[in-house]
Amino acid sequence: IKKIGVLTSGGDAPGMNAAIRGVVRAGLAEGLELFGIYDGYLGLYEDRMLSLDRYSVSDVINRGGTFLGSARFPEFKEESVRQIAIENMRKRGLDALVVIGGDGSYMGAKRLTEMGFPCIGLPGTIDNDVAGTDYTIGYQTALETVVEAIDRLRDTSSSHQRISIVEVMGRHCGDLTLSAAIAGGCEYVVLPEIPYTREELVAEIRAGLKKGKKHAIVAITELLCDCAELAKYIEKETGRETRATVLGHIQRGGAPCAFDRILASRMGAYAVDLLLQGFGGRCVGVQNDRMVHHDIIDAIENMRRPFRGDLMATAKRLY
Ligand code: ADP
Repeated sequence: IKKIGVLTSGGDAPGMNAAIRGVVRAGLAEGLELFGIYDGYLGLYEDRMLSLDRYSVSDVINRGGTFLGSARFPEFKEESVRQIAIENMRKRGLDALVVIGGDGSYMGAKRLTEMGFPCIGLPGTIDNDVAGTDYTIGYQTALETVVEAIDRLRDTSSSHQRISIVEVMGRHCGDLTLSAAIAGGCEYVVLPEIPYTREELVAEIRAGLKKGKKHAIVAITELLCDCAELAKYIEKETGRETRATVLGHIQRGGAPCAFDRILASRMGAYAVDLLLQGFGGRCVGVQNDRMVHHDIIDAIENMRRPFRGDLMATAKRLY
């Protein structure tokens, strides 16, 4: 292995820059050449790459987003498109590619590996929905952002004896919602992993009001319902003013917290170690604070994230 490419793909996440920096600095220290690819698989297909030196990643460890840019590029599912991407990498003499992204991006990395081009995947997403790792890069930063937003909602909900619904990102994974609910002291939490009905939710809220609760904060994962419509329903059923707040892309921005910077730096350097040891088709994770790697195909097809039922139980006990 002499030349490595690195790209960021899918939804961006705070700490992606720190991961790129980790790959670049660790690679250069081992005498490798590094190439950055713009805008994920789109830039790979369009042959938009630049050589990276150690100063290319100066002053990025503290910056949110990704300086290489990211993109959704559904055409990458076509083999002919991936073939052109591989030709572009071969033309420049690249031997391997590090892909920083979520499980969609892992699919692309898996396909490239199957076509004979070794890839290493690093989990970069705020959703924490990637198998084979306790935490993804960006998750802890997003968690801090969500908790800060919930704290602010609590102040005003409490003053006005209002019910607040806060919609949190995570797609089909409730980790961000659940952890934010515990840290933010939310009264109710609705997650994709646990079926709920709005009738049950209203019954719980009513029981809380009966106990004398002045306000209620409901944390709910995105994609489960229309929160504005849910707010109207709850207001009608309880007679209490109810407002929905969709946090949206605010959750994806901001400077990465120290945890994410450290995780990203470790993972970036570890990806280089794996490539030097001759590994390809692996994805990097952190489990029990140790760097681990799994087969990328196995991670996508067979491994499942365990649901944190223990955290759910804690949240429920502290309602
Ligand atoms: P994330 O990586 O955050 O989960 P996406 O699911 O949008 O984000 O995936 C990012 C990109 O990965 C897609 O736009 C596409 O270019 C590529 N990708 C996703 N699924 C596949 C697939 N089955 N085969 C090849 N490439 C894929």
